Amino acid sequence: MHQKTLAELREGLIKREFSSVEVTQHFLERIARLDERFNCFISVTEDAALARAREADKTLAAGGAPALCGLPVAHKDIFCTRGVRTSCGSQMLDNFIPPYDAAVVENFNDAGVVVLGKTNMDEFAMGSSNETSWYGAVKNPWDVRCVPGGSSGGSAAAVAAGMAPGVTATDTGGSIRQPAALCGITGLKPTYGRVSRWGMIAFASSLDQGGPMARSAEDVALLLNAMASFDPRDSTSAERAVPDYTADLSTDLSGLRIGVPREYFDEGLNPATEQVVREALRELESQGAVLKDIDLPHAKLSVPAYYVIAPAEASANLSRFDGVRYGYRCDAPADLPDMFKRSRAEGFGDEVKRRILVGTYCLSAGYYDAYYNKAMQVRRLIKEDFVAAFADVDVVAGPTCPNPAFEFGAKGDNPVAMYLEDIYTIAANLAGLPAMSLPCGFVDNKPVGLQLIGQYFQEARMLNVAHRYQQATSWHRRMPPDID
Ligand code: GLN
Repeated sequence: MHQKTLAELREGLIKREFSSVEVTQHFLERIARLDERFNCFISVTEDAALARAREADKTLAAGGAPALCGLPVAHKDIFCTRGVRTSCGSQMLDNFIPPYDAAVVENFNDAGVVVLGKTNMDEFAMGSSNETSWYGAVKNPWDVRCVPGGSSGGSAAAVAAGMAPGVTATDTGGSIRQPAALCGITGLKPTYGRVSRWGMIAFASSLDQGGPMARSAEDVALLLNAMASFDPRDSTSAERAVPDYTADLSTDLSGLRIGVPREYFDEGLNPATEQVVREALRELESQGAVLKDIDLPHAKLSVPAYYVIAPAEASANLSRFDGVRYGYRCDAPADLPDMFKRSRAEGFGDEVKRRILVGTYCLSAGYYDAYYNKAMQVRRLIKEDFVAAFADVDVVAGPTCPNPAFEFGAKGDNPVAMYLEDIYTIAANLAGLPAMSLPCGFVDNKPVGLQLIGQYFQEARMLNVAHRYQQATSWHRRMPPDID
């Protein structure tokens, strides 16, 4: 059952080959048995899931069921869920039970899903290895000595290990694509504004975007159909119709122009990863696509620009966690300033504190122009590189990450080395472009991701390329060994 894609599970449910209760029990049983090894879940909502599955079975029997009726999913623990703890991977919110559902959660509920639980993540989505979670690191199902990527590592590893067939995640600088790549699954970050941020705990609001992860591009398209919406409660939500992302999956790739950025095949790219990615590009070429070398001259500035802009926004967003309104409060404060200081000092982990310090510094009166304004200018240049490139190509393709999954602790004492793991993903966030990662092979028995970057609101085009690739290859069907 857990080898099946969401599309296959959906067909089985509609044909009544199995019930939603059976599917849900199967995944709950796997979570109960396997999650001790991988630590993907912060909360498992077993009773609610089974109740919801029973309802779904009635709806399925009655006919006219909504698109995802009875299919189990898990939400990254950054999406507020009414009545269910939403921790954002932090001690700060360990006791936070939201009184409302995030827009994404509402949309999925309307589509009929069964929610299995909430997945582990780097604290406040800050990280590339899932080592910063207050609930402990997530292990990569392909090699438990290695990280699953971050910050959506719990979501990615849950799909890879067959504990959930589809999940939600968020991507501020790569947190959907990088863990998808390291765990050998498919994940998509939509165009900024395509998916509502309402009820999604804010990290860097001008970059944050929710998106789906699953085994296949077809599954990701099914999930995105439900996830995307215009939402007046999010002032940056895009007011445009949501297409059916499954409609053009099979379109022929003949004549499709794929831009291959020279800067994404630089000296920082692992040579074995490069080989695997080039092989994937050749497969697309053999299906009729035309490869064109392109330049993104400012791409190399994306990491430094991001590590000014993202911490600046984070320092503002995280100021609300002060021990007063909700979240962690220190014991026996001497007075109000002591409560603020100690609640934040005790409630946040080191990486979050590092970001708040950097962000506050960059926004301070004396440095605002030198850092924040400069970074915003660089952001514009990066966006203009893509606008120029998309005059000649339909999609951009390259590696998702410079290396396959690395070992725990490998970059622990060197934040800059960790930040460089996102060198190929961050530019799409700065530009607000949609981008995805799909499995395209292995290096040292660890998965490698092919990244696609699309034109604004052209998610369907990327999904088409990914689906055609997956029709011709079986990387997305591989399961990690030693997990039964
Ligand atoms: N790894 C990047 C960071 O630590 C991106 C995280 C994300 O996309 N949420 O900020």
